[in-house]
Amino acid sequence: MRDSVTIVGASLAGLRSAETLRRDGFGGRISLIGDEPHQPYDRPPLSKQVLAGDWEPERALLTPAEKLEPLGLDLRLGVRATGLDVAARELEVDGVAEPFDGLLIATGARCRTLPGTGGPVAVHTLRTLDDCLAIRAALDDGARRMVVIGAGFIGAEVASVAVGRGTSVTLVEALPAPFARVLGQEMGAVVADVHVANGVDLRCGVGVSSVAGEPGAMTVAMADGSDVYADLVVVGIGVVPNTEWLEGSGLTLDDGVVCDPTCLAAPNVVAAGDVARWTDPRTGESMRVEHWDNAVEQGRHAARRLLATDEEAEVFAPVPWFWSDQYDRKIQLAGRPHPDDEVRVVDGSTDERRFAAFYGRRGQLTAVLGMNRPRQVMQGRGLLEQGVGWDDALAVAAGWD
Ligand code: FAD
Ligand code: NAP
Repeated sequence: MRDSVTIVGASLAGLRSAETLRRDGFGGRISLIGDEPHQPYDRPPLSKQVLAGDWEPERALLTPAEKLEPLGLDLRLGVRATGLDVAARELEVDGVAEPFDGLLIATGARCRTLPGTGGPVAVHTLRTLDDCLAIRAALDDGARRMVVIGAGFIGAEVASVAVGRGTSVTLVEALPAPFARVLGQEMGAVVADVHVANGVDLRCGVGVSSVAGEPGAMTVAMADGSDVYADLVVVGIGVVPNTEWLEGSGLTLDDGVVCDPTCLAAPNVVAAGDVARWTDPRTGESMRVEHWDNAVEQGRHAARRLLATDEEAEVFAPVPWFWSDQYDRKIQLAGRPHPDDEVRVVDGSTDERRFAAFYGRRGQLTAVLGMNRPRQVMQGRGLLEQGVGWDDALAVAAGWD
């Protein structure tokens, strides 16, 4: 029996794990430690409703105050975990060591920055509420021309919001198509069409050499020799997991906190969310998932793992799933495609940008992509959970009306 649980990272995976512990009847002390000063908030609205100005930040809170209070958490905001000694069962918080009983690590990830754009040049990244409000303020102040570097999730969603606010956008991507590494070239090209149809100047297959100037008058120099002028520059080129504070702790770190298939990183220590790496029992693949649904489900799983015995422990074997809102399209993907998987449109058409597509490899269904096709994606997710083969999956889709 544990007396107390300490959770580091007061955000999605951390808070959902605390709620799970209470829901499951854990009556001991739960400390939730986070380095941001804000009450725990949700990140998806930061590149959507809050950035657009449609929501005030309070609407993005993960749990309203009246539901947070009854959890009886020892909520310590604005403080940072600075070290860990697994063998001694000691956590260091702002330089001061304290004992822990069970520890859940949910420190997420932070934005990668574009080399050479530190210093005086104001180049925005988007991870936190404060980042979001800074970009929103620039848009409110009348930024007319924006360059977005990186056409991944952040880039695509920021471009979409900015266009909706009347800003002209140049979206730069080093790969031949947006999302090519996630969706493959063919479906990446369909996403590219969506952006171009909405008036974005999309430049793929070209890198950025430098960014110079100051807010309101910036020049982005491209590797092909061209320059693009902008009032505002946003960079979305991926994230790095927040593990520096765990160096020398006794945990294995490898682009994340390495866990076993049950989310256990060491005796008495589990990890969840963007920071956690584990081996998927379905595929044997080592993975780290950077999406909302995984942070929720893994937070819940890791919390239960911390209270379970080794005999009771269950493997974490989800079918990953995400959504992305871009203009009037809802893009959803269940599963994990490889860029060279076979792709088959099974419903609707890519020309109309309203379709569902299956990805397959070696006779197995590997993923289901939908553009404005939520029902089909959820049905496809069920097929993935059942481990349905390629031919059987196509036969099911043939019955969709
Ligand atoms: P995080 O949300 O990163 O939280 C980790 C917390 O730990 C942070 O508050 C961090 O400051 C804190 N922390 C870090 N180090 C320390 C330390 N040493 N001590 C104390 N605290 C620390 N996913 C989707 O599926 N769909 C979407 O539409 C979507 N939209 C998104 C939009 C944006 C703008 C962003 C940034 C992400 C979006 N995501 C989306 C991804 C999703 O939000 C993340 O996968 C999720 O937030 C991960 O949750 P987490 O709790 O693991 O980590
Ligand atoms: P991302 O989705 O990993 O995309 C980054 C993109 O930038 C990739 O296409 C990457 O290409 C490209 N890139 C990398 N270096 C570059 C460079 N020097 N110049 C130009 N392009 C470059 O990361 P993100 O968009 O920054 O998102 C950050 C995090 O937020 C991720 O964890 C993401 O999952 C999460 N998020 C999720 C959602 C959602 O699920 N809807 C929405 C917003 C944010 P390479 O692949 O070649 O590196």
